[in-house]
Amino acid sequence: MNDDIGTDIGIDDLPVRDDLRGRTPYGAPQLEVPVALNTNENPYPPSDRLAATLARRVAETATGLNRYPDRDAVGLRTALAGYLGHGLDHRRVWAANGSNEVLQQILQAFGGAGRTAMGFEPSYSMHPVIAGVTGTAWIPVPRAADFRVDLPAALDAIARHRPDVVFLASPNNPTGTALPLADIEAVLDAAPGMVVVDEAYAEFRREGTPSALSLLPGRPRLVVTRTMSKAFAMAGARIGYLAAHPAVVDALQLVRLPYHLSAVSQVVAATALDFTDELLGAVKRLRDERDALVDWLRAQGYAVADSDANFVLFGEFADRSAVWRGMLDQGVLIREVGPPGWLRTTVGTPEEMAAFRAALPRAAGR
Ligand SMILES: *Cc1c(COP(=O)(O)O)cnc(C)c1O
Repeated sequence: MNDDIGTDIGIDDLPVRDDLRGRTPYGAPQLEVPVALNTNENPYPPSDRLAATLARRVAETATGLNRYPDRDAVGLRTALAGYLGHGLDHRRVWAANGSNEVLQQILQAFGGAGRTAMGFEPSYSMHPVIAGVTGTAWIPVPRAADFRVDLPAALDAIARHRPDVVFLASPNNPTGTALPLADIEAVLDAAPGMVVVDEAYAEFRREGTPSALSLLPGRPRLVVTRTMSKAFAMAGARIGYLAAHPAVVDALQLVRLPYHLSAVSQVVAATALDFTDELLGAVKRLRDERDALVDWLRAQGYAVADSDANFVLFGEFADRSAVWRGMLDQGVLIREVGPPGWLRTTVGTPEEMAAFRAALPRAAGR
């Protein structure tokens, strides 16, 4: 039989959707490096006690894997609601394979062909990607120079475009900027459709920075998304979730695939939630490490965006690619993302940040 691989057939030779032609897949480099600070992962692996409990509960689940999982993941959603507080219950919480799948389901239900979604850039690169994949037209609106949402510009763009979905990331990736609740309320009042506050980094926010969860009562068009990939150190488990009005959860059930969340995923997520105190202890260490990093970078004379997340955006560099490469040559992988001239580093362990601090002066030539 002839092997097709190696022939010069490409995507464009296939009858692929016209609107997918010319696109490139999401591709943060997955390189083997001593210090990986490029995808905002939590550097602390599960403790031995958590890993052993996960193994035991997965083993118990294994004997039932001939059956489909709980399609509605009620047990997990109840546990997630308990973690979030704010009087939430499982009817107001929905879970899927990473918050990216949650976002995709939101756009499948509320976006799609002939509809529009708006975001305030620089922001999370997957928002426009998921919009595109679901056939939703993307409307980017620039942020202010200090990376806050420029509220007058935002309200003006909403009035002009009447978007079906508005994305607000808070804390925002890649800038780390959190939004005041008053800005979210103003967007909610102006927007005709759904408003999604992507709170992937909520647990890392500084003291006194509010969560949009407190805005949920009486606001059925508000959705707050969260993930276990960052604070809960479970990026490999692929668990994301949201809190919203029960009618929003009903709408998402129209588009989700049956049994989308495996029994293994459900038990892993619920087990991690049992270790919330332990996992949030590591988050506290990362927040302290982040604040120390911001101080250090500023002392070196860099511009640094205030961060409520587990990463820091800093600059400005005439040739940021050269600095990124210079870091990689020293075994430190950071991310070339955000406005031109800026770089983003995830906050790692004290040892990893020592390596970062040692490498940067050489990479930047100062
Ligand atoms: C990391 C990140 C996510 C998380 O995606 P998962 O699919 O849950 O791993 C969502 N939103 C933003 C802004 C992020 O940076």
